[in-house]
Amino acid sequence: MSLPDEHGKFIEYGGKFAPEVLMPAIEELERGFRRYVKDPGFRRDLGYYLEEFAGRPTPLYYAENLSKKVGGAKIYLKREDLVHGGAHKLNNTLGQALLAKKMGKERVIAETGAGQHGVATAIAAAALDLDCEVYMGTDDMERQKLNVFRMDLMNAEIIPVESGSCTLKDAINEAMRDWLANVETTHYLIGSIVGPHPYPLMVREFQRIIGEETRKQIIDKEGVLPDYIVACVGGGSNAIGIFHEFLGDEVGLVGVEAGGRGIESGEHGATLCAGTSGVLHGTCSKLLQDRYGQIKISYSIAAGLDYPGVGPELSYLAEKGRLEVTSVTDDEALEAFKLLSREEGIVPALESAHAVYHAVELGEELDEDKTIIVNLSGRGDKDVSVVAEALGVKL
Ligand SMILES: *Cc1c(COP(=O)(O)O)cnc(C)c1O
Repeated sequence: MSLPDEHGKFIEYGGKFAPEVLMPAIEELERGFRRYVKDPGFRRDLGYYLEEFAGRPTPLYYAENLSKKVGGAKIYLKREDLVHGGAHKLNNTLGQALLAKKMGKERVIAETGAGQHGVATAIAAAALDLDCEVYMGTDDMERQKLNVFRMDLMNAEIIPVESGSCTLKDAINEAMRDWLANVETTHYLIGSIVGPHPYPLMVREFQRIIGEETRKQIIDKEGVLPDYIVACVGGGSNAIGIFHEFLGDEVGLVGVEAGGRGIESGEHGATLCAGTSGVLHGTCSKLLQDRYGQIKISYSIAAGLDYPGVGPELSYLAEKGRLEVTSVTDDEALEAFKLLSREEGIVPALESAHAVYHAVELGEELDEDKTIIVNLSGRGDKDVSVVAEALGVKL
């Protein structure tokens, strides 16, 4: 059976939990997606931008120095850090921006916390000549001045959100309101496999190219499928992007969440490891919530993993036992950040460093004839000042 079903359900997870007034917009999007996803013209145009603009396919690189250092399994890196913009996010924003254009929209809106999704949306909108407005909490704008400026350079308009806690969840509310008021002209571009159906399906569709390339590349290099694939999990888009192609195979799939200051501390973003079922932002999934259903504040040194929800498909796969989940703390991620930089000359995003840490631990336990693929979701240039501060280095 292929999931989600026609209601966007992954058995008990997923679905479309949205106010009645938003349903026409969601249904129009669903029709547009179903029509264009199979359309040869759409696929050709998307293929063009992915190759010529985003730089796909990305390499599958054998991390020989790291593997030798670990002294166990061979570790490969799927180099999503080499995608234009520095992370996998552009695969999705290009896909949705092109869909919006085909559907006759002139404008895309997005919300952003740390700014990474906002930047990826601004890039895609500029490339496809769409207007772009990005909702951002004023607290986040203050913390992420560089990304605000980047978006501005690429002609996106930032709309400061001063309601509530002035952060991501307030920006999401404002973006929803905008979509409702302007659905004729506007597409709401969500950045991970979260939100109401069809978003979890659609974002997976635009990210699964990661796994499709990986399959061919590992067969070319090793002649067999890998033993494990490891990916970090914020909302879950880079993870499902590489996992989806291997769901039916005997390949261990491991999702690594943000352990923050340790699960016991309560300051983390480990939704699959420590969350319970509930509804957030239009979908039913695992959440970090208290016993009254109030959403808890998540925490991670990696901004992209700092989210109290997770994609419904990953909740389903974890519950079914097809996906292993674990968490890595801030300190461990910092260790892996330094290790990969030193051994391979590749500075990973702090998010990706979570996956690298786990792959090293796993690799130590396995024999040399085993292989592990790490989805290196992004590059770490954006993180160097945070890392310097955490290590007590004054720049
Ligand atoms: C945004 C981001 C993530 C987390 O998002 P997912 O949807 O879980 O993939 C991970 N890594 C990088 C580099 C990111 O920018």
